[in-house]
Amino acid sequence: MDKQAANKRILELRDILRENSRLYYVDNAPVMSDYEYDQLMHELEALEAEYPEFLTPDSPTQKVGSDLESQGMGVNAEPAVRREFVQRPHRYPMLSLGNTYSISEVEEFSARADKTLGNSFTYCCELKFDGTAICLTYRNGVLVQALTRGDGVMGDDVTENALRISNIPHRLRGDYPEEFEIRGEILMPYDSFDKLNGERERNEEAPFANPRNAASGSLKLIDPEAVAHRGLMCTLYHIPAESLSFESHDQALRAAQSWGLPVSDERRICHNIDEIKQYIEYWDIKRKELPFATDGIVIKINEMAYQRILGSTAKSPRWEVAYKFKAEQALTPIVSIDYQVGRTGAVTPVANLEPVLLSGTIVKRATLVNEDQMRALDIHEGDSVYVEKGGEIIPKITGVEPSLRKKDAVRPKFPEVCPDCGTPLVRAEAEAKWFCPNSDGCPMQIKGRLLHFTSRKAMDILAGDATVEQLFNLKLARTPADLYDLTPLQLLALDGWKEKSAMRFRSSLDASRDVPFERVLFALGIRYVGETTAKELARHFGSIDAIASAGREDLLAVPDVGEVIADSIFAFFRDERHLIEIERLKAHGLHFTVENGGDAVSSDALEGKTIVISGTFSISRDDMKALIEKHGGKNSGSVSARTSFLLAGEKPGPEKLRKCESLGIPVIGEAEFMAMIPSSGDEAEHDKYEQLSLF
Ligand code: NAD
Repeated sequence: MDKQAANKRILELRDILRENSRLYYVDNAPVMSDYEYDQLMHELEALEAEYPEFLTPDSPTQKVGSDLESQGMGVNAEPAVRREFVQRPHRYPMLSLGNTYSISEVEEFSARADKTLGNSFTYCCELKFDGTAICLTYRNGVLVQALTRGDGVMGDDVTENALRISNIPHRLRGDYPEEFEIRGEILMPYDSFDKLNGERERNEEAPFANPRNAASGSLKLIDPEAVAHRGLMCTLYHIPAESLSFESHDQALRAAQSWGLPVSDERRICHNIDEIKQYIEYWDIKRKELPFATDGIVIKINEMAYQRILGSTAKSPRWEVAYKFKAEQALTPIVSIDYQVGRTGAVTPVANLEPVLLSGTIVKRATLVNEDQMRALDIHEGDSVYVEKGGEIIPKITGVEPSLRKKDAVRPKFPEVCPDCGTPLVRAEAEAKWFCPNSDGCPMQIKGRLLHFTSRKAMDILAGDATVEQLFNLKLARTPADLYDLTPLQLLALDGWKEKSAMRFRSSLDASRDVPFERVLFALGIRYVGETTAKELARHFGSIDAIASAGREDLLAVPDVGEVIADSIFAFFRDERHLIEIERLKAHGLHFTVENGGDAVSSDALEGKTIVISGTFSISRDDMKALIEKHGGKNSGSVSARTSFLLAGEKPGPEKLRKCESLGIPVIGEAEFMAMIPSSGDEAEHDKYEQLSLF
């Protein structure tokens, strides 16, 4: 790969990883398996190592994935989850873990440790619990704070909720230190998970994809009493070496156990790679009997003194590594195949399966992706197929068991016409999918677009599947602007609607008038314009009129916009129907221009922080400094031990970066910084929820 191609691939990988990281951490709704995600991350690491000139501090390889709610509301977030947690700084950064799926890389880790540390050290091997990380602080034996990992620098304060998790002690016993931090994982055992998803399905709510997402969503419920009913549990596995003087990690965990803290007994001290491998082999089988999810094992250098010598990179400690288990597979027959039409008209084949237990959950459906994939797998009707959940996500069919194929089995015929409206399907040469071209008349596409517009990530209007279905069937709404035309009488005529539901719906419509332009742009559903591209377009052009009149070349000048996206945007604004719809939405008061920074709220989010900025940002450096001050932070020109963090834009000064590395000062990018401070959009959201909660 030449340098230019490498740079292109690096940018592409960063985009894919950022988007999937958000789906995973904030929305709790991953669409990619952990394995796929990790492979892409490793590809990016390798490219950045080969071309260090392209390495930037905001690369996903340099940062911990962030679960801070201020990154946006999750699609899987429940109505009771609100962006109301106070964010507090971590005393010691909460890092990620280097990971591998290969035993030979574990061997390399051990060989490097032998070489660096001699042979007077041990390993502590532990289960890698698959939940959401937590950091507890005890003062005088009392739990005083519980923070999520957040972005590693700041975490959401979920103390009230942690106090409702039954095995987290409020008070310690024995000879505990005056004050210390301990870290671990909040887990949702399989039986609580099944119960919760059963309830959600009965209430017509989307079930959680896996226990990890359910645990992380539940920990962020606004009502602590609701948390108490989620059946969460905690397991603790780390006391930061800096906070107490233990000789070994294992000794620290024993002490924690003696104070009454929940620490797993399944860890083992290993002396060499053979013992590590035995531990891995044992738990690869045995973990299936555990009542909660694990996704690997963690191998840690046990002696604190050695941990200190090895230290950490910006993202993960060098003294520990995770060995991740490969995805579990299940074999089950296909009962039938549905062909689903999405809002863009794309047709996706989905297999209905004989229900089968996989990684602790029952799987009934799995995607077959597209016609080419069906061909590549050589799917026949009634085939028994291998299903995988990768890192336990939406299942995928990965293979067929030919020995179980019935003699007369035939290949399913991919439909030639739209299964919803009967229009002949089309497939352009460059497309992997078949499309229904009847975008104006196909009910699934019309409903899909309305649902996209109302979704939380877009306009956050209280209209889910059932409401959209009713509005469409009664011919009350076909396009988003129709929603704003609905009268109270029309709403009250809907099946099951009462005054209260109509008021809630109208309040959410009112609140959507405060949604910032970038989200309105995303809500319009322009093909290939996801949240990130919408943000870039809004930032670059500032208004819908400027985007609508932009030529292809102007569009190509926007970061992230390539030929295909530029063509799609260009075509969208050449379609009279879209222009009429935009005019109607404008008349309803939606934002179609970027509000300038002048009305940004002030806060004390950066109180006590000394910040150094370096590089260029999406706003001028002076504006950035003003923003820092507006949120209680202090600007400083040079990096010193007193610097809280370096805020790095594009092309930050190498000298400053080096100094940060040597002093262990965190370097954060612009997006991460923006997530630390409330924006005017957040405040609007907050008001909106206040308003809604009055009903
Ligand atoms: P991770 O989950 O791979 O490992 C780090 C975490 O492991 C720690 O933060 C800690 O919470 C946990 N852990 C559990 N048991 C532990 C123990 N005994 N000791 C120490 N830590 C323990 O890393 P991460 O940074 O939380 O997440 C990155 C991973 O998340 C990726 O490698 C990927 O697999 C997954 N991910 C997936 C997607 C996706 O789209 N599927 C997106 C983003 C991230």
